[in-house]
Amino acid sequence: MAEAAISLSEDRYARFAAISWWRQDRLRSARVLVIGAGALGNEVLKNFALLGVGDVVVADLDRVEASNLTRSVLFSAADTGRPKAEVAAARMRAMCPDTQATALVGNVLADVGLGWFRRADVVIGALDNREARVFVNQACARLGRPWFDGGIEVLNGIVRGFHPPHTPCYECTMTAADWSVLNQRRSCSMLARQALAARGTPTTPTTGSVIGAMQAQEAIKLLHGLEHLRGAGWIFEGLGHASYRCEYQLLPDCPWHEPVPEVHAPAWCGHETTLTAVAEYARNVLGGLDAIDLPRELVETLTCAACGRSDACNRPLEALDAAAVQCPGCGAERAPRAYHSIAAGSIVPGRTLGGIGLPRFDIIFARCGERSLGIEMGADAPAPGGQVA
Ligand SMILES: [Zn+2]
Ligand SMILES: [Zn+2]
Repeated sequence: MAEAAISLSEDRYARFAAISWWRQDRLRSARVLVIGAGALGNEVLKNFALLGVGDVVVADLDRVEASNLTRSVLFSAADTGRPKAEVAAARMRAMCPDTQATALVGNVLADVGLGWFRRADVVIGALDNREARVFVNQACARLGRPWFDGGIEVLNGIVRGFHPPHTPCYECTMTAADWSVLNQRRSCSMLARQALAARGTPTTPTTGSVIGAMQAQEAIKLLHGLEHLRGAGWIFEGLGHASYRCEYQLLPDCPWHEPVPEVHAPAWCGHETTLTAVAEYARNVLGGLDAIDLPRELVETLTCAACGRSDACNRPLEALDAAAVQCPGCGAERAPRAYHSIAAGSIVPGRTLGGIGLPRFDIIFARCGERSLGIEMGADAPAPGGQVA
């Protein structure tokens, strides 16, 4: 880097340098994964760019709509119709020359490989639904990554910090009523679920600023080794000016507190690798293989009860939209046959990781007795400094 560029960069962060514990180099070398580029995500991402965080990956499925413009500082009317993640990443790069921003256009439950979670120092959930929060929590628990969840509704908001498996996690905070709502939605048909998901939460840019700022600030504190929310929450009540901290309890029967398995990222393993090759690798490392556990539900076949027709699917359950579940024969809604584990004895030769519907850069978990090994699609890892769109 030229000398002039260095001094310009130092000037840029002069007010941070006056803070005794501040370490700009830690922020510049940090990797952050932000799930969601809506009202909250915009505030979080804006702050990470202002702070000079070096590597920010942003994942979002949606495109910019007119109704986003009242709550999204990174979007303008000219962006309508473009993917939110791409617009947000481009704005961040323009805001801060030190920020390498990468856009992942996709649904976290279907399209974001767990490798993105493993490479992150901290994960931010800027989400508006429980299904995605449960998925992010599980991904973080499988890999031992800390994450900060944010939620906003009108003038109220909440920030929660979790570091599963070590601390109480998001699922530990879920009440019986929360589970019943989630399970009701899960038992609904795909079409009904998507109609529910399309309903937006009432939110304002002001509450989004408060909660998004707290999420970014907690991440900065974590990156500096300062005290932060760990198995705890911060609740903000905008109308009555109350804010307070609450501690969560680890639920004894919560499944997300097992030790984090070792993860290997062989460079030969990618989207085109066969399950047979992965199974052989796992057998050599673990001394045997009982099953391969998948980090997301995949659909093998779609079956129509009305006309009896059954078709291969090989996509993540959460990737199926109304058109995908409609029977091409009679037009009725077909039922997906989903699975999230493959017994060692039922691996079909020739099937590839991508071919069964896993996204690129995902991680699968091989199990033998009590032992578990994560295998990342290392061949799909982003090149250092490379862009993924
Ligand atoms: Zn838990
Ligand atoms: Zn049919």
